[in-house]
Amino acid sequence: MNNSTPSDTLAKVVSLTKRRGFIFQSSEIYGGLKSAYDYGPLGVELKRNIAAEWWKYMVHEREDVVGIDASIMMHPSVWKASGHLSGFSDPLVDCHNCKERFRADKAPTMPAGSAIEWNKGGKSSGEKVRGAVGECGYICPMCGSSDLSAERQFNLMFRTSIGPVDPLDTLLQEIHGKDLSRAELREKLEEAIKSSAIYLRPETAQAMFVQFLNVQQTMSMKVPFGIAQQGKSFRNEVTTEKFIFRTCEFEQMEMEYFCEPGTQKEWHNYWTDARMTWWKRYANNKDSFRVRHHEQDELAHYADACVDIDYQYPWGWDELEGIASRTDYDLSRHAEDSGVKLSYFDQQKMDPVTGKPGVRYVPYVIEPAAGLTRAVLAFLCDAYTEEEGVDAEGATKTRVLLKLHPRLAPCKAAVLPLMKKEGMPEVARAIVNQFYKAGVNASFDEQQSIGKRYARHDEIGTPYCLTVDHQTLEDNTVTIRDRDTTKQDRISVDEALAVVKQRVDSF
Ligand code: ATP
Repeated sequence: MNNSTPSDTLAKVVSLTKRRGFIFQSSEIYGGLKSAYDYGPLGVELKRNIAAEWWKYMVHEREDVVGIDASIMMHPSVWKASGHLSGFSDPLVDCHNCKERFRADKAPTMPAGSAIEWNKGGKSSGEKVRGAVGECGYICPMCGSSDLSAERQFNLMFRTSIGPVDPLDTLLQEIHGKDLSRAELREKLEEAIKSSAIYLRPETAQAMFVQFLNVQQTMSMKVPFGIAQQGKSFRNEVTTEKFIFRTCEFEQMEMEYFCEPGTQKEWHNYWTDARMTWWKRYANNKDSFRVRHHEQDELAHYADACVDIDYQYPWGWDELEGIASRTDYDLSRHAEDSGVKLSYFDQQKMDPVTGKPGVRYVPYVIEPAAGLTRAVLAFLCDAYTEEEGVDAEGATKTRVLLKLHPRLAPCKAAVLPLMKKEGMPEVARAIVNQFYKAGVNASFDEQQSIGKRYARHDEIGTPYCLTVDHQTLEDNTVTIRDRDTTKQDRISVDEALAVVKQRVDSF
């Protein structure tokens, strides 16, 4: 039974992940950096396990998809061709009442002209101010005020500079002693920065387009085929929110699937189904994942279809992955700007014009683009469980457990000597060493009572606890306790590693 209300589940997950070493605020001892997080010893294992399962499913289990690992910094022309320099922006609004800065497209909407009331200065109580919702049709998400600035577009890419010349030195030389207006100064500043400007990638996808030919030719890939990549992306998000849901630095798992024009609808359906199957495979609450089809007016101008895979987070449905049918837009744009023909010669097909074998075309693209750090959050929320039970004295108590899928769980088994004597720790050490040797993540734990140790491992999602007790010393068996049922069986010490491996692999 899960007692948490939706509103406090997120707070409980945040608290558990901090307390148990999954996720810490970045630079915490200096007061923390807003919206940046560090993955602790258990968090990094969970994140890597999710990434590994994605890679296995998307790359290793198929012959039509290969991977790359491209650099985060790319030639600035990439972002001009892709449209990110001119168009990758969010509408930014300032609240004149509480001074919050927020994204217009994510703000609570209300019909223009509706009468509303808010607290002056965004305070929780005190003087009330009356007003009406403006033509924009939204209000401040923090204080509910309609006293807002006009929208301005804010580019989400992080800009930095490359090379030994500091653009500020160049600028200083240029403007020293000159009496320039604000506009002239701005122009000089932009010029100085532009010569060495470089951007942190806001998505992993573009590398798959610009390396299309290299990958296709070196690996002799035949359309349809895909190029996959996982890695860090950076967006100077206007509103960072909800723990690791939206951060400025995050990780993505993306794949570009190149297919013949005309077959994109079929492949879009195929990848939507495949991706839903993948998410549900690791979920306890399979109904918490849904496909949302984009309306025609939601589609980017180059896309002919798009769906989101949404997860029901504690605050409601929100995006986890986008699967877009991007036509030939990306390859065509990069071909145009680079002057390199990014097309594919299909020898098996007849050219409809000449009637001869072989036809050249620019492949269409289906792009399943998932957030790895968002996946960590979704699987943590899905796994967080509170169960009410009764202890030995008859008192009601709550058991908190992370029902993580065994393949995602950071630690697969805990090996626990019942007591710190009678040779039990030595036997437990010998068992856990077998796990270390086999590369199966396990932990040796002899601190506190056995009940507290079980509780600790329930809370971090360890699927199996192996306990060395008095009987072990007599018949070379240990108990194996299942996290979800708490049921215990006895197995031979010699089989312990094989049994845990077999159970984890069988899921
Ligand atoms: P949103 O509408 O939530 O801003 P998006 O549509 O801009 O997301 P995409 O560009 O399609 O996102 O990126 C693909 C995936 O990358 C998203 O579905 C999400 O899981 C992840 N993602 C995007 N931006 C962020 C971010 N700032 N922090 C964490 N994950 C992100």
